[in-house]
Amino acid sequence: MNFAQIKELKDKILGGYQITKEDALKLVSTENLEALYYSANQIRAKFCGEYFEMWSVYHQNLGRCENDCTFCPMSNVTKVDYYATCDETCNIETVEKQAESMRILRAQGVRKVEIDSTHSSLNDENLSKMICMLNAIKNKVDIELCASFGILSREQLIRLKNETNINYYHCNIETSESFYHNVCTTIKPEDKYETLKTAKSLGFYTCSGGIIGLGESMEDRIDMALKLRSLNVDAISLNIMLPFPGTPLEKQARLSNQEILTTFAIFRFINPKAKLRFARGRSMIKIIEKEALKTGMNSSIVGELLVNAKGADIRNDIQLFESEGFIIRK
Ligand code: SF4
Repeated sequence: MNFAQIKELKDKILGGYQITKEDALKLVSTENLEALYYSANQIRAKFCGEYFEMWSVYHQNLGRCENDCTFCPMSNVTKVDYYATCDETCNIETVEKQAESMRILRAQGVRKVEIDSTHSSLNDENLSKMICMLNAIKNKVDIELCASFGILSREQLIRLKNETNINYYHCNIETSESFYHNVCTTIKPEDKYETLKTAKSLGFYTCSGGIIGLGESMEDRIDMALKLRSLNVDAISLNIMLPFPGTPLEKQARLSNQEILTTFAIFRFINPKAKLRFARGRSMIKIIEKEALKTGMNSSIVGELLVNAKGADIRNDIQLFESEGFIIRK
């Protein structure tokens, strides 16, 4: 696609058009990458404005996961026990400590913390524990919490809705449906889609996303973005593969900066209204972070609660986001 064709497509999107897979494939093969990134940023400005949201993640350790996701240090195929040294902050009894960390984040402008159960699903006993923890934290800190508990049944989601005042549910779809079996054989992606659909139908704001750099093609990324659009998710987290030693993907080649920026932009073209978030792997794109902020992104992970990837200093982050013209939504 040349400059004029990209502009024409962008203008159609600004008028309400939803791009097709064919459009998206043509877009990512353009040599006019600057026009692609610039247009993605204009789409973000039109539909999402200048507000920028900071969020963080807390991993609630429930032990090693029974699944075989090749990228994950918690999976049953990992050779290193990353959680052997997990400290007591990963204990369900230490809500006060968690709440204090979240108070500090809140004071710095972080609006939302995702509580990640680090498992693909929860039995009813663990769901009860998580509900208890969510309520205890909400009673202590004025912060939005997002439950990231994997695949839940309709009944479990109804419990979550009725027994907490949590408004956000998160479940990553990881990659395209056709590539999924390459990274995990123990979870059915359809179960994730069903969870997201059910959560949405019950009134949750839904967050999803995936990881780029698992060995998938650009077409797979486009398929993932289209699937997220069909699921009508409110926010999309884009993680960049962090190669953890001991995992099957420890030697996976890093994506080029151009591929990363193009992926961000095409996600914005396909999902004009969703919050588009930097998630794990931000450390991998430090040198292109300013450019990345001009490809349609409007949210980012920050903070020190992460177990697997240390967030950057929040003050520096705020300076960076504001220097690019964003207003931090506090
Ligand atoms: S289900 Fe989640 S925690 Fe379990 S191995 Fe897969 S990514 Fe890791």
